[in-house]
Amino acid sequence: MSQKLQNATKNQETVFVFSAHSDDFVIGCGGTIAKYAKLGINVRCYVFSYGEKSHPWMAAAEVKKMRADECYAASEVLGCNTKIFDLMELSIRSDAKLKGTVKFLEKQVEKYRPSKIFVHSKEDPHPDHKDVHALSMQLIKRIDEKLIPDVYVYSVWNPFEFKTTYPSMFVDVKDNFETKLEAMRKFPSQTVHVIFPVFLLLFRGFKDGFFSGHKLAEKFFLVKTSSITAVTAVKKKIKLKEKRLK
Ligand SMILES: [Zn+2]
Repeated sequence: MSQKLQNATKNQETVFVFSAHSDDFVIGCGGTIAKYAKLGINVRCYVFSYGEKSHPWMAAAEVKKMRADECYAASEVLGCNTKIFDLMELSIRSDAKLKGTVKFLEKQVEKYRPSKIFVHSKEDPHPDHKDVHALSMQLIKRIDEKLIPDVYVYSVWNPFEFKTTYPSMFVDVKDNFETKLEAMRKFPSQTVHVIFPVFLLLFRGFKDGFFSGHKLAEKFFLVKTSSITAVTAVKKKIKLKEKRLK
């Protein structure tokens, strides 16, 4: 039996990661993905756009192929299954509406019943990242309440802390950080953009690790949850915030 089939037949835990561009999930949660995959968790990443505008001097089809190849190579290193939606960069939200992406994701949630979804933060300055956050919240509103997973936000470029009061989760990625960096090296087309974040990541990894008592950690914020423990309080807080926003 193939590894994939074996995994499908096991009643294993599934985690989703939503990523606006082909490298965000690696930068934002690569260590956590590698760690979960090693624990036998089925990690499924959904990339919303190829990021075809990164190389304006090349034909879009060529850029898409290059970025898809890099993305799948990085996914193999991390041990996750990755699907790329071909949504238009800088128009992700409207294109997703046209193509029924949220509906598709709703079916994926029904099929795989993820325990956690990692998404971009609405405080992220990049418009595509904001769009993916908004689509994620649309999805959460649509799915059956029994299927609502814990929803965590992650940061990509933002060197600053999110100004959030949501509870944070530190994942110790000391043993997975090298895998994360190896996955990042699968994006040679992004070298120019990646040099700065690598330093940032190392800094942030050590800093988050320092504050959480681990040597290297990735930090997330829990923004939605269905579980009754901890979390009644969080729900109340979210409801209060939502009320304030109305
Ligand atoms: Zn991005």
